[in-house]
Amino acid sequence: MNIGFLGLGGMGRAMAANLIQAGHALRVWNRSPQPLAELERQGADVARQPREAFAAEVAISMLADDRAVREVIVAQCLGAATPRVHINMATISIALTRELAELHRERGIAYIAAPVFGRTEVAAAGKLNILAAGDAAVRSQMQVLFDAMGQKTWPLGDEPERAMAVKLAGNFMLAAAIEAMGEAAAMASGHGVTTAELLDVLTNTLFSAPAYKNYGAIIAEQRYEPAAFRLALGLKDVNLALEAGSSGHAPMPFASVLRDNLIDAIAHGDADRDWSALAEVAMRRAGRSK
Ligand code: NAP
Repeated sequence: MNIGFLGLGGMGRAMAANLIQAGHALRVWNRSPQPLAELERQGADVARQPREAFAAEVAISMLADDRAVREVIVAQCLGAATPRVHINMATISIALTRELAELHRERGIAYIAAPVFGRTEVAAAGKLNILAAGDAAVRSQMQVLFDAMGQKTWPLGDEPERAMAVKLAGNFMLAAAIEAMGEAAAMASGHGVTTAELLDVLTNTLFSAPAYKNYGAIIAEQRYEPAAFRLALGLKDVNLALEAGSSGHAPMPFASVLRDNLIDAIAHGDADRDWSALAEVAMRRAGRSK
């Protein structure tokens, strides 16, 4: 397929590489030039303007947040170029998802929301879990692309916002798991139990799920750099979950605590560390780290 790919951050560059590997023709765009050369070496065409990439049969975007999507897609692409389908794979707000669905409908472009579970190493391995919502017939035509990037596509119906609600719920639960491990580790360390000992027991007994095992290992080793998912983006997602709760009249008191703790982490210089550094907030409050 002829694909335009916009947004070559940690996730986008790995996903674009897998699409090339699967034999698709890619034209790529990124705000800063660093990732372009490597993708060009792998066979991609480089677009100078976002609308040149957007003008493909299928445009895929993996930009950071609502602001980036507004600046790139809404301000520079919609109206200037008309792909048949636009797949947004970034995590953005429910409100912007609804707005984009309408803007695309008005222009005759099929809009699919397909946010993902899986960090950069999972994206590189082509093993993402893809949460896809939008027109069912279009989604099935796009399956060949999803298969190049992910291990499984979860069908979530015709309304794009449904996929985003599931993504935001998942990231809220991940942040809660990190926070829980941070507070538990701070408590146990006051009684002579190291974080590594504690999380070895807990993630192999009561909490033997991937979220606890993967983040537990990072927290035990304090392996926060380089970031696979930047803490600043984690705050973005918890804020988006709070907004989604508010617009759906669902109080999320835990999410409010997570939001403040992520702000605390950013105030202490952790914006660009992995978001599992949220666990350090509890340790710091207990006087046991920086
Ligand atoms: P990232 O490494 O920070 O990359 C962000 C991308 O957005 C870069 O291409 C960046 O361009 C671009 N961008 C940011 N602000 C922009 C603006 N104002 N105008 C134009 N381009 C802009 O982020 P990522 O980890 O790849 O994440 C991308 C999306 O996937 C986010 O929505 C994130 O929540 C979601 N996600 C991430 C993970 C993960 O583990 N990393 C997992 C699942 C979902 P520059 O290169 O020029 O900065």
